[in-house]
Order: sequence, then C-alpha cells, then structure tokens
Amino acid sequence: MLFDCAYDFTLVPMNFEDLGLGPKTLKAVKETGYTEPTPIQASAIPHVLAARDVLGIAQTGTGKTASFTLPMIDILSRGRAKARMPRSLILEPTRELAAQVAENFETYGKYHKLSMALLIGGVAFGEQNRKLMQGVDVLIATPGRLLDHIERGNLLMNGVQLLVVDEADRMLDMGFIPDIERIFKMTPFTRQTLFFSATMPTEIQRIVDTFFTQPKTCRGDPPDRHRRHH
Ligand code: AMP
Repeated sequence: MLFDCAYDFTLVPMNFEDLGLGPKTLKAVKETGYTEPTPIQASAIPHVLAARDVLGIAQTGTGKTASFTLPMIDILSRGRAKARMPRSLILEPTRELAAQVAENFETYGKYHKLSMALLIGGVAFGEQNRKLMQGVDVLIATPGRLLDHIERGNLLMNGVQLLVVDEADRMLDMGFIPDIERIFKMTPFTRQTLFFSATMPTEIQRIVDTFFTQPKTCRGDPPDRHRRHH
C-alpha cells in the first residue's frame, strides 16, 4: 500500500505547533503533558485541517484518537449546531471506545464551547434525546444505538460535515458493516470522511473505494517503534 503521509521521525522531529492547530487546542494539548505528536498525529492532522478525506492505518495505542479529535475541535469551532442535526459524527464499535473518545473531546476541547452527545446503549433515550434537541457539534455513537435514534425520528444526518469511522476492522468483526453503509448513505456526499483501521481487509477497502474522495492514506507506527527513533 502507498502512503501519502507516512512520516519519518528519524529525519525531522515534529512539534505540535507545526501541525496547524489553533492556540486554544495547543494550550489544552500542552496541559496534558504530551511533548510531541505521534507519527499518526503528525501525518494525519495537517490533512484533516486541510479538509481532506483521510484513511489512517493505525492501531490503538498509536495516539490515533487525538489525530482526529484535535483537528475536529478546530474545524467545529467555526459555526453553530442546529436542533437534531449534528455537525459531526464519530462511530465507535463499543461503548467503552465511545466513552474514551468523549473524554478526549472534554480534555482537548476544554477551551472551546463545543456541545457533545454520546449515544451508547445503557443510557436512557430521554436524556440523550434532550441533548440532541439542543443541537450538538459532536455526536459519538455506536452504530446500533445511532440507527435506533434515527428510526425514532430523534435526529437527522443531513448536517453531518465530518464523519469518522474508528476501528473499522473491529466494526467488520462485529458485523457492523451493513449499518455503517446505511449511515454513510444518510450523510451528505460533500462531507469530509476520516476512517481508521489497523488492517485493510477487502470489505473495508470496498467501503473506502465507494465512499471516499481522493483520500490521503496515513500510517501510525506502534508507539514502541516510535520511541526507539528518539
Ligand atoms: P490511542 O491510540 O488514541 O488510544 O492513544 C493511546 C494513548 O496515547 C492514550 O492514553 C493517549 O492519552 C496517549 N497519547 C496520545 N497522544 C500522545 C502524544 N502525542 N504523546 C504521548 N502520549 C499520547
């Protein structure tokens, strides 16, 4: 596979300041204590900020969550949410992963006023519905729960400008690919799409070929390999 943004850390060290993120986001990152971006962050963040579709080949532990949450915070800081029309959607295979992504938005988005809703099983529909009514910038969901809400008429996908599918290969293992395809078809074709997977089986490649516009392919090395370079 060819990588458009593989980043060789042995050549030039990177700083968070070089990626194009805004000052409020950089301040929040600095407060977490991270000193430099991981390879997937250094390679993907500038493309996400440039509104490109990105295919990130990265496992858990590579820092991939921040590679989409950080630029999303900056992109979404411009504009306002309308009732029942989330501006961005992040699909996660499990409740636990969805909750971790929500924590990331709270940590890195602490200097922004973004509204967020988490649609996962085990939380009452009424409470989730109230949040959706108020309008959300960031909607984080598992596919089944999201489709339940859509079928109840609680939300519309027409306002989604940014769609993220995280852990796509796990989605495949869990049988979520038909749900993902349904959700893709409900969002505007002009949206920006980010897709993360540790591996690229043919079923996943087919989705990329169908739903992506000239994606940039980025790779994240496992963190231990990343550290050995220093
Ligand atoms: P993830 O691959 O997104 O699950 O992230 C794995 C872990 O790496 C998380 O605990 C993050 O808090 C941490 N992490 C993310 N970015 C960085 C960074 N630039 N430097 C050090 N740790 C990070």
